[in-house]
Amino acid sequence: MKFISTTGQGPEVSFREAVLNNLPNDGGLYFPTEIPQLEQGFIKEIPKMQLSEIAFEVLPKFCTADIRTNELEEITERVFDFPIPLVQVNVKIHCLELFHGPTYAFKDIGAKFLAECLAHFNVSENKETTVLVATSGDTGGAVANGFLGVEGVRVIILYPKGKVSALQEKQLTTLGQNITALEVEGTFDDCQSLVKQAFADAQLNKEMHLSSANSINIARWLPQSLFYYVPLQQGFEDVTIAVPSGNYGNLTSGVLAMKMGVPIKEFVAASNANDVVPRYLRSGNYEPEGTIQTIANAMDVSDPSNFQRLLSLFGGSYQEIKNHLKPFTLDDDAIKQTIRECHHENDYLLDPHGAIAYAALHNSDEEGVFLGTAHYCKFLPTMKEALGQEVNISDFAKELMTRKKRSFEMKVDYKQFKEFLIS
Ligand SMILES: *Cc1c(COP(=O)(O)O)cnc(C)c1O
Repeated sequence: MKFISTTGQGPEVSFREAVLNNLPNDGGLYFPTEIPQLEQGFIKEIPKMQLSEIAFEVLPKFCTADIRTNELEEITERVFDFPIPLVQVNVKIHCLELFHGPTYAFKDIGAKFLAECLAHFNVSENKETTVLVATSGDTGGAVANGFLGVEGVRVIILYPKGKVSALQEKQLTTLGQNITALEVEGTFDDCQSLVKQAFADAQLNKEMHLSSANSINIARWLPQSLFYYVPLQQGFEDVTIAVPSGNYGNLTSGVLAMKMGVPIKEFVAASNANDVVPRYLRSGNYEPEGTIQTIANAMDVSDPSNFQRLLSLFGGSYQEIKNHLKPFTLDDDAIKQTIRECHHENDYLLDPHGAIAYAALHNSDEEGVFLGTAHYCKFLPTMKEALGQEVNISDFAKELMTRKKRSFEMKVDYKQFKEFLIS
């Protein structure tokens, strides 16, 4: 299997090159040159298989040329090592709970697989890799956990001081080992710009092997498609799946699963006020506007990078996209109302992101599955506002809050950042 830019141009590269390059240099994203098809016999067996076994059937179609079978099997076992339950919320709605990993968010899976792949390719290169991650909260924690204890990789996380939630900060700053947190006196954009300057610094890149764990890396995208096998594994064929979406990595990896042969009826693109894709689905025009801050902040993306992969998956056909993807948008007040009502009606706590996708199903006659992309305990102030009362946080969260924070404070100063990297 080879990979090529979504622009359709540029060289075809191996899985290994696509992972290490992160991005093709023509503004596109890596995409498989063909969509492999699942065998009917395998699809029939899915209800009898473990998720890690399913993953071990699916992922080799993309990367056997670069990772030996037995090693890939060990990797998939380590990546899919926590439960992904399909939980009934009411008579017609189930939640696929993707938040039982170390940082309580679905990104744990992709981040772990990427970390494993980088470590694997790294061992054969025999030099240390420094992974730079700028985070506004969620991704950093998932990436850091994915790389925790991975040999030959050191991770530097930059996050904006005072702008991440208390729990998120604990997740970023209490890991230790090969993970270092830099608390930047600035915004997320400042963090991102420091990272970009480092990647553009030729002298620095001669001295060290820098790498990014960006969400558009193919190794973060591919394993997410496994989520979409779980409904079938649990006996749900041709179901509607509502996906809380921001950068559209998760939803497009679901479309990949469908294109490979997993029977899925349709997807709902569930968005917050940043509704560029729902608007596209209604009008046929893709018109990004400025980013709006919402309480489902992991989805505050105004111009999703994975829109290109969406086009590639459907051969650029607006009609085809429209046939398989339904638009849905919910504003902050309605998100809070949904959290409150779902708690009353079903005794089930939604987080602000999952709430949007739940509402998409609840407001229609559809039976279906929505993806629970994060645990509600990551958003305690919002939960309190929505419910009018404090919520119980799980033991894990309580334990996390008692851990000791370790971080280095830094100004938005590239010189200081560079010295820190070299020292
Ligand atoms: C990242 C994230 C999303 C959006 O996922 P995309 O793949 O960017 O569309 C939704 N919910 C949560 C909790 C997230 O962290």
